[in-house]
Amino acid sequence: MPWWLCAPLIDAAVLLAYAGVPARAVDGYVRDAAGKPLRYRLNGLRVFVLCLAAWAAACWAGWLRWDALYVHRWESAFGACVTGLLFTLAIVLPAKPVKSIAADLFLGRLENPQWKGLDAKMYLYLVGAIHLELNVLSFTAFHLQTFGADPNPGVVLYAALFTFFVTEYLNFEEVHLYTYDFMAERVGFKLGWGCLVFYPFFYCVGLWTTAHLPNPHTPAPLLVLYGALFFVGWVLSRGANLQKFQFKRDPARKAFGVLEPRAISKGRTQVLTGGFWGLSRHINYLGEILMASGLALSLGYPLELGPWLYPLYYVALLVPRQLDDDRRCAAKYGAAWVEYCKRVPWRIIPRVY
Ligand code: NDP
Repeated sequence: MPWWLCAPLIDAAVLLAYAGVPARAVDGYVRDAAGKPLRYRLNGLRVFVLCLAAWAAACWAGWLRWDALYVHRWESAFGACVTGLLFTLAIVLPAKPVKSIAADLFLGRLENPQWKGLDAKMYLYLVGAIHLELNVLSFTAFHLQTFGADPNPGVVLYAALFTFFVTEYLNFEEVHLYTYDFMAERVGFKLGWGCLVFYPFFYCVGLWTTAHLPNPHTPAPLLVLYGALFFVGWVLSRGANLQKFQFKRDPARKAFGVLEPRAISKGRTQVLTGGFWGLSRHINYLGEILMASGLALSLGYPLELGPWLYPLYYVALLVPRQLDDDRRCAAKYGAAWVEYCKRVPWRIIPRVY
């Protein structure tokens, strides 16, 4: 098979599954021009399991090598690039211009394109997550087959942590409807190419750059520590996102059934100041960076640059995003936001930044 076709085939299979697998319909946070919440079909976890089962069945049947996505990773990434570019042109060019053509191609024109109940952003995140997981599993298979007698347990830990990351992301799909991407971004190259190429191929850059290396014999207590770092990050990130989600749905409800809803209310605006949101104004971003660091360290090559590219990417993405979001919130919440910044002066890292 021409391996550059691999990515478009995965994209097509996920699209069919997203359209065909039974889903629950939920109201999102974003509203249409008439003020009605947009409806979303959510079936990410089922589509994920189905796609993984189909891949595993194809490997067991001998139609596909377990490590094929590693062996053909460059052709596959090339095919993904072409698909990402074609997708960008197809979604941007027919829509009404917003800014210059270059800005529109990069940032997009349509805010929340939906077609026959299928949502472009939900699809993009789903295909990105599934393709990433397939790459992680296949790259891991390559490592295990190559170093069968003495494999790196850090690679297995990395694959397990990434599988957890992707699975829990899809499990909490509904919470993501309340994030910046859905509220503030349009669909263009950044989101389209980002999910079709960058997400599946760059997020696993750690494994991409170390799968061919032998077992570094990382001591077991260190591996436990790296796993723990990942989960501390997860608690901060998931905890903050869930707390905000629950607060937006019902501001009077205790978060997780225990945290009193502490918020600044001025007129109709409500800014959450307690729990995770009292630690720093974007503790969820710190969580994301800690998770990425745990993943990078688990591979056992802390002096190689490759694994660190992933946490560094989060720093480069989330530090400016926090500044943008602060400006957005200051404009939206006015005096309540000023008061919140006084009470919680830390942007991302409590007592540091
Ligand atoms: P947030 O979930 O922090 O959302 C920001 C929005 O939440 C604000 O614009 C505002 O919107 C609302 N908000 C912020 N602070 C408060 C407050 N104190 N009280 C009430 N409302 C508040 O950021 P993102 O959407 O950027 O990120 C969501 C998650 O996704 C994070 O965990 C992030 O790390 C993760 N992420 C993951 C990426 C990945 O590739 N894995 C990439 C980017 C992000 P409003 O009031 O209008 O609702």
